[in-house]
Amino acid sequence: MPVAHARPLVVRGRLAQPDGPTAPDGTVMVEAGRVTYAGPSGSAPPAPDGAYELPVEGTIVPGLVDAHVHLTCDGGPDLQAEVEGLGPAALTVKALANAWRSLARGVVAVRDLGAPCGEAVAVAEAVAEGRLHGPEVAAAGRALTAPGGHIPYLGRVERGVEAMGRAAEEELRDGAAGIKLVATGGILTRGVPIGNLAFEEDELAAAAEVARAAGAWVAAHVIGLEGTKRAVRAGATTLEHATFVDDEAVELIRDRGVVTVATLSALHAILRHGRAGGVPEESVLKAESVLEIHTESMRRVAAAGLSLATGTDAGTPFNPHGGVAAEARLLVQEVGLSPSEAFAAATTVAARCLGRSDLGRIVAGGPGHLLVVEGDPGDDVTALDRVRSVVWGGFPVGPHLANLLPLS
Ligand SMILES: [Zn+2]
Repeated sequence: MPVAHARPLVVRGRLAQPDGPTAPDGTVMVEAGRVTYAGPSGSAPPAPDGAYELPVEGTIVPGLVDAHVHLTCDGGPDLQAEVEGLGPAALTVKALANAWRSLARGVVAVRDLGAPCGEAVAVAEAVAEGRLHGPEVAAAGRALTAPGGHIPYLGRVERGVEAMGRAAEEELRDGAAGIKLVATGGILTRGVPIGNLAFEEDELAAAAEVARAAGAWVAAHVIGLEGTKRAVRAGATTLEHATFVDDEAVELIRDRGVVTVATLSALHAILRHGRAGGVPEESVLKAESVLEIHTESMRRVAAAGLSLATGTDAGTPFNPHGGVAAEARLLVQEVGLSPSEAFAAATTVAARCLGRSDLGRIVAGGPGHLLVVEGDPGDDVTALDRVRSVVWGGFPVGPHLANLLPLS
């Protein structure tokens, strides 16, 4: 629940969104953290007494959503070394600073998919309880990974059907909003092949069933093709990366209504800065080996009319927090989405990954999150990179945070 503010907010200007009221001359009103009106100015009720009117130069759009981040990681060259070198206190401070970096760039909600301890959950709870301003955080707690598997340093190592069900229960009990299943190997863990099969299907299903029964999401990290299919059959609600996708996988994704989170930013950042920047050679080689097939798979998913969401995998090498606009731009440039499809990927579709139909849109009754951007992202997705104002829960926050934080 957004923080309630004493002063109502009125925003007037061009209103553009993928799903929700639009108007060339629009008005949005926010009271006590929630939108009370969004639509044409001609039909708007009178502004409440004492309302603050936000100056608008540009287009009013919904706040962005990042469906895949790691708040405890800053984006240094070696993620594993960065995390293993710090304790929970330092990591929690990093998580909060990275949450703020996201918000300063217009990201009003993030989904954290794996942290060593309860760092992201702590930030999530502080924001939800109104003790801190920040983006809404939906955290997986610790990722569930297999012995010898990917990112044990961002999770817990489990084996067996019973252990997986119990692990999911414990993470949810400890405040996780969903669970993360590491179904295959990955790029950033030394000595772990990218496509290896980490878990049996029944192990994945045991954890997924616990989460789904609780109404929670199930994010599955998948790179290999068989792991992707296992994860979907086991009950994943989102696929992270989905590097290899064939016709059978496309049909499974369609049947189960799974959202694919492309995380193009992560691969592109490693390939652009990796060798010179000190990313371990093994990770660079793995990234090089999958770039082409990953792009092809995302095109296949898009061509089949399936949902793609912006998830940046922020925190991975040279991939700082807040880069949803850049991810949306890659979905246009590399995958061929239209600007309006990428705008939806960065708002309503990413919100679906969090199980939140009230995020990614500005509608009466929903949280009072919105941005003012220069240009209209429905025509030109780069407009999302030109954020002029950020409003979270009716409170203008962007400029304050930008002054506090060195933005990398
Ligand atoms: Zn990740």
